[in-house]
Amino acid sequence: MGEQKIMPVVFSGHGSPMIALEHNEITEGMDRIGRAVEKQFGRPKAILMVSAHWYTHGTFVQSAQEPRQVYDMYGFPKELYQVKYPAKGDRELTRQVEGLLGSVVAVNDDWGIDHGAWTVLVHMFPKADIPVVQLSVDGDLSYQEEFELGRKLAQLREQGYLILGSGNVVHNLREVEWDNEGGSDATLRFNDYITEAVLQGETDKVIGFASHPDAGYAVPTPDHYLPLLVCLGAAGTDQSQVFNKVCNLGSMAMTGYAWGMEE
Ligand code: ZN
Repeated sequence: MGEQKIMPVVFSGHGSPMIALEHNEITEGMDRIGRAVEKQFGRPKAILMVSAHWYTHGTFVQSAQEPRQVYDMYGFPKELYQVKYPAKGDRELTRQVEGLLGSVVAVNDDWGIDHGAWTVLVHMFPKADIPVVQLSVDGDLSYQEEFELGRKLAQLREQGYLILGSGNVVHNLREVEWDNEGGSDATLRFNDYITEAVLQGETDKVIGFASHPDAGYAVPTPDHYLPLLVCLGAAGTDQSQVFNKVCNLGSMAMTGYAWGMEE
């Protein structure tokens, strides 16, 4: 066996759950990065998935061998509730997470693979042949602590696990403009600012996003932004790249980043 390559870290926007059924520039970006991961590193042993939609008090990790798929969205067309992503769990990854985070994390299988996860995974790893374990987004942590939690998880990468965050750099449901195919000025300003900071490795700016004048608009609630901070911590000083830069619905940034990969 050759030397184990250090797996990359990926953060993807997800936005509207309808993305699961779509084929466009955004889904092509997801598809492309998924293929690139397998081409450059081989198939990940499992994916540690940090989805904005498992937003909890306390930090939880899943352990089910056959996690259920959660259709945690309402009022969408029937086809969306028929999308299947039958990934297995991975007990070994669960144990590794417990080992790295210690008493801070608890096993919890009340939830499952939610739409923040599967709407992205159906495009990125469509075969569903890589086990998926979700880690919750702990809303009780400070922004700095989210980042530190990611740092503790970084070691998983050396063991062949892919850390994948799913949220949005800009996510404001109250400001959605259904007829806007692009992003509003505030969305573009904030998205550019964060993307530049990610690319330059200016982690303080990404963690300290709240000081940006458009932060109240871009991140009215932290749930969709926090997976990025966990990814950033796990990425360390690795070089990053942008694999998606589409903004849509006015107040949504579908931006995706990958760290530790060749262009
Ligand atoms: Zn979402």
